[in-house]
Amino acid sequence: MAEDLEQGTREDATADRRIERVNPARRFLTPADALQAIHEGNERFVNGTPLHPNQGADRRTALANTQEPFVALFGCSDSRVAAEMIFDVGLGEMFVIRTAGQVTDGVVLGTLEYAVDLLSTPLLVVLGHDSCGAVTAAHESYESGDSPGGYIDDLVARIMPSVAHARAQGREGIHGAVAQNTIDTVKRIPQRSPIIKRALREGRLEIVGLTYRLEDGRVSTVAHLGPIVDAEGQPVDLLTRG
Ligand SMILES: [Zn+2]
Repeated sequence: MAEDLEQGTREDATADRRIERVNPARRFLTPADALQAIHEGNERFVNGTPLHPNQGADRRTALANTQEPFVALFGCSDSRVAAEMIFDVGLGEMFVIRTAGQVTDGVVLGTLEYAVDLLSTPLLVVLGHDSCGAVTAAHESYESGDSPGGYIDDLVARIMPSVAHARAQGREGIHGAVAQNTIDTVKRIPQRSPIIKRALREGRLEIVGLTYRLEDGRVSTVAHLGPIVDAEGQPVDLLTRG
C-alpha cells in the first residue's frame, strides 16, 4: 500500500516535470503560447502518447485555493469529445463549458466572460465535431420542416441559422453545417459580449474555432479571431483575411 502511494507520487512528480518543459510560463501565457500548448496536447492524444500532465495528488492540493486555466473551451457535450483528454491537459488548465451542439445563451456567455475577465484566460476554443447529433437534428429539421420536440427544439432553433448559412456558403451536408456552426459561434461570442470583444481588441484573448474528427482525434482550425478589427470595429477572421 505504502509502496503504491509512493509510486503514485513519483509518477505525478514526473508528469509535472514533463509539463513544465512543455509549458514553463503558464502564469503569463500569451494567446499564441496557449494555442501552441493546445495543438501540442492534441498531437500527443492523436499519436497515442499523452502525458496526462498535472493530474496527481500534488497538483490537486496545490490548486485547492486557486486556478489559472490557460484555455477556456466551449464545446459539444458529446461523450466522445472529452475536452481535457483530447488536448491532454490536467487539473486547473482548462475551463470547460459544454452544451449539445455548443449552442450559446446568456448563461454560456456569462460563463465565458467569467473565464476571460476574472480568470484572465488568454485563449477561448469553440469546438465542434463531425457526426454531431445536435447539428444532425437541426439539419434534418431544416430538410423536413418538422421539430424534434421538447427542449431539443431550443437547441435546434439556435443551430438552424448555421444550417441555412452553410447552404448559402456552399458547405454541404452535416460536415458543412458543423463547420459553419463552429465558425458562426466564434463570431457570435464577441458580437454579443462587449467584455470578450474588449479582451480581443486589447490582445489579451484570441478565439479559435476547431472541428474534431472522431475517427483519428485530430482537430482542424476553421476560424481564428485576434486583435485585428474591420472598419466597423468587428473582429476579423484571420483565416480568411487574404
Ligand atoms: Zn455534438
